[in-house]
Amino acid sequence: MINDGAILMIITFANHKGGVAKTTLTINIADAFAREGLDVLVVDLDPQANVTGLLYSAEETPGVPIEKILEGSASIAQGVIEKTNVEGVHLIGASLKLANLERQLQSTPFSSTSLLAQKLAPVIPVYDAIFIDTPPALSFLTANAMAASDFVFSPLASGSKLSLVGADDLVAFIHQAKAANHKLKFGGAILTKHDSRKKVCRLVQGAATEYYANVLASTMPATTDVDKGQMINRTVLQLERDSNVSRAVVEIAREIIKITGLSLKGKTK
Ligand code: ADP
Ligand code: MG
Repeated sequence: MINDGAILMIITFANHKGGVAKTTLTINIADAFAREGLDVLVVDLDPQANVTGLLYSAEETPGVPIEKILEGSASIAQGVIEKTNVEGVHLIGASLKLANLERQLQSTPFSSTSLLAQKLAPVIPVYDAIFIDTPPALSFLTANAMAASDFVFSPLASGSKLSLVGADDLVAFIHQAKAANHKLKFGGAILTKHDSRKKVCRLVQGAATEYYANVLASTMPATTDVDKGQMINRTVLQLERDSNVSRAVVEIAREIIKITGLSLKGKTK
């Protein structure tokens, strides 16, 4: 498999708040991209290994998780899992041990935030899009994800008045990441768990534009379908292609494709 036409985009989902649907969007947008005919790799950079649990296995640790690649004891090619629960989506998994490696690297002088970028280089010609899921922290790992990326998108759960608290810190962190990685762009905030009938959701939607330079027009609705799917390791598109949330996921994916300038030319399978 060789990248045949589309420009590779590396996309990070980041927000130091937990539970805003970073992991959910990573998996579901990856699925939507694969259905557009794109060759997709997902990198799990969260020591909670939720993406790995959903795309691969919650019980089993991948043979070559990302921490082995980052510490240099295995090559990235060895880490790629081609057979995941989502067709057309490859995975580099993580295990809880990623947290140990993060602590170790953080306390090592000269350890670099461009480590992941260096390690990803060999697989770049192979994929059209690489998604990186990050921990709920503005940490060394999140800095590594941003240093490797072309775009960062920030999921934002709209159902709580508190969801914009800390947005300034996130924006400042992205700003710092951009100073180190000149190709990095902020793609936009993505409203998740959104219910336009609720006043708080509409308030957060309105206020989000004051904090973020861009807020995607498409939103991900609040629905039990996400949890239902995750119980049986399915994306929302695998569960029911015609549901509201599936249509929303496809819309968000297409908006991301537009914002990033990813070309689908000749990619339709
Ligand atoms: P994060 O990675 O930001 O911590 P997750 O993707 O793990 O967040 O989502 C947190 C929880 O919210 C999970 O239980 C997930 O199933 C649920 N969830 C995600 N998206 C939605 C949605 N659109 N509607 C309802 N629940 C959602
Ligand atoms: Mg997560």
